[in-house]
Amino acid sequence: MTRVVLASSNEGKLRELAALLAPFALELAPEGELGIRAAAETGATFIENALLKARHAARHARLPALADDSGLEVDALGGRPGVWSARFAGAGASEADNLRKLLVELEDVPEGYRQARYRCVIVWVRSVGDQAPLIAHGTWEGRIARAPRGAGGFGYDPVFVPAGERRSAAELTPAEKNAVSHRAQALQALVAMLRTAGYIARP
Ligand code: IMP
Repeated sequence: MTRVVLASSNEGKLRELAALLAPFALELAPEGELGIRAAAETGATFIENALLKARHAARHARLPALADDSGLEVDALGGRPGVWSARFAGAGASEADNLRKLLVELEDVPEGYRQARYRCVIVWVRSVGDQAPLIAHGTWEGRIARAPRGAGGFGYDPVFVPAGERRSAAELTPAEKNAVSHRAQALQALVAMLRTAGYIARP
């Protein structure tokens, strides 16, 4: 059993990562449970932020670390909120504040121009000094609805309608979301890398 620190305190992410990693021989320790405060996300890209979060957690926990940096990219907003997704309505903003700001910014954007995608970068470092971190990517295409629907998922899920769906991501079951989401895709790619590198056994 490999013990690994999860460099996130976002409840929604932790829930999804734990479900997705359940089949593997990994013992996951969220950084908050180890008394580790979240790293400041000062990077300009998803990769930079994921790397700095993973290194921070690995340094303090003295364990391998896994970090997810993710966000929503909206075409009509030139890719915003992107790496600022968690802080779109300002530092300390709630998920509801961020979602409201998104709908206000898109008020005048007609159907057909509301394309968006979630992006996720997941990083695995064996230690703080790991010079060959594993980095995996995932994207999930969709569009932004005019009003929130559904109570599942987290963050922008109530207004994110995946391509080919009529339901919002918050109306999907956790299993349905975890089969196709940006996080699921990135994690699947990461697991393949971990197996190739011999860091985890096949389930
Ligand atoms: P960070 O990776 O901690 O900087 O935050 C990512 C932010 O992107 C979250 O706080 C959400 O606002 C948004 N986000 C990322 N993944 C998802 C998702 O699966 N559903 C909804 N919102 C997401």
